[in-house]
Amino acid sequence: KDLFGEKRLNAKGWDITDPLEYAELDAARSKFAHPHQWKFALDEALGARGKVQKLINPAVPDDQVGEIANATPSVVEKAIKLAAKGQKAWSSKAPADRAAALRKAADLYEAHAAELFALASREAGKSLLDGVAEVREAVDFLRFYANEAERLGEQDEARGVIACISPWNFPLAIFTGQVAAALVAGNGVVAKPAEQSPLMGARAVELLHEAGVPKDALILVPGAGDIGAALTSQPDLGGVCFTGSTEVAKLIDKQLAKTSDSDAMVIAETGGLNAMIVDSTALPEQAIRDILASSFQSAGQRCSALRMLYVQEDVADHVLEMLYGGLEAMQVGEPWDISTDIGPVIDAEAQKEISDYCAKLTSEGRLLKKIKAPKDGHFVEPHIFKVSGIEELEREIFGPVLHVATFKAKNINKVVDAVNAKGFGLTFGLHTRMDTRVEEIGKRIKVGNFYVNRNQIGAIVGSQPFGGEGLSGTGPKAGGANYLPRFRVAKHDHKVE
Ligand code: GLU
Repeated sequence: KDLFGEKRLNAKGWDITDPLEYAELDAARSKFAHPHQWKFALDEALGARGKVQKLINPAVPDDQVGEIANATPSVVEKAIKLAAKGQKAWSSKAPADRAAALRKAADLYEAHAAELFALASREAGKSLLDGVAEVREAVDFLRFYANEAERLGEQDEARGVIACISPWNFPLAIFTGQVAAALVAGNGVVAKPAEQSPLMGARAVELLHEAGVPKDALILVPGAGDIGAALTSQPDLGGVCFTGSTEVAKLIDKQLAKTSDSDAMVIAETGGLNAMIVDSTALPEQAIRDILASSFQSAGQRCSALRMLYVQEDVADHVLEMLYGGLEAMQVGEPWDISTDIGPVIDAEAQKEISDYCAKLTSEGRLLKKIKAPKDGHFVEPHIFKVSGIEELEREIFGPVLHVATFKAKNINKVVDAVNAKGFGLTFGLHTRMDTRVEEIGKRIKVGNFYVNRNQIGAIVGSQPFGGEGLSGTGPKAGGANYLPRFRVAKHDHKVE
């Protein structure tokens, strides 16, 4: 009955411990399986629509998941104006009232969990396990920011209208996190979901409206990059909240600088080239479990994912043999299948880019291990490659690809320096049983999230605020105490009694 019971945890070592009723997943599988389709139109008030976009299941090419009417640049302009009006009434409510709407939305997300699991799987190719984590994280964001809004109270002022631009790899969790924070702080929101996962964004907005967020305070503008560009070039923005690539974050920055009358705030959470060190004192079984989860869960499509593993050479043969065995035990397949560990990548473009990269490294004689993936659908065979170090990695490959190098004990600080020198700073993992090493490396490594003797993905809202430095983002960290204040303008009242 318990899907993630002991057997599965022991066999695969995933780090999800909350049991979930099998019945709920089963409901998702029977009610929302192919040929169920979701259809969303744009709000009438926004006028003429753009093209209707059809969404296809990345794992099952003949499964049409649904369709959505995209926005156009003129729709975006109208949306910003409408949200500016809506924001006035919304921001005059007490923080507790706005928080109540978020809590109601959290309840609605939970009540509709089966449908959301289905959407995560069919639109974004998420395994059932990842779908569960996705919904849970979204709900956590709603409740966490509701509490934060009450903690901060009436101090400071809302910024106005925030443009929220979110990625397809967490189509519900990150979408909801951005929107919830901006809204509960009293702002209006115009939100653009990723073009690969707009159905989930649209469903989230429906539930938020049902929970009491006014329709003119939260407006969805689905579409591709042209819609994102139209959104960030509006003159009257209070801010932009973006999660995606470092390149797009730089474009947004430039765009905002050009919009002369804008003093918009920017939060960008971008890519990573994340590393892990396993030293000779580490517990190999634990390290393997965490390496596999960090590199291959979500088919490696997390900005937090492990890309570069360093194993101390004294234990490398043993650790790597276990790692290959662990990878062999994993199953790549249709995300609806309960025995699937690794689902598809998001689309044909990603599949080609990652597969070409793997073919290149294989032709260079670097392949250490790979496992098979289904032929139909956008699957990529998970690969492990040998490299000399992180210096060799040119860019973040957003898929199930792990690079491995060995190091001599006396060079451990050089390894940390090489990781720092790459300029990203999102997550870093360390497996060791030496406390002094944890302390030394913890001080030396420049990252937002440093994980010891565990995997380095799946930051928990509230207890593991998530976000990087350097090329990985601007901070502040999502799910942390410094996040919500960024959505308000600091204001001090000086009163003489
Ligand atoms: N918060 C996620 C994690 O800790 C990653 C978010 C992302 O990939 O953008 O794994």
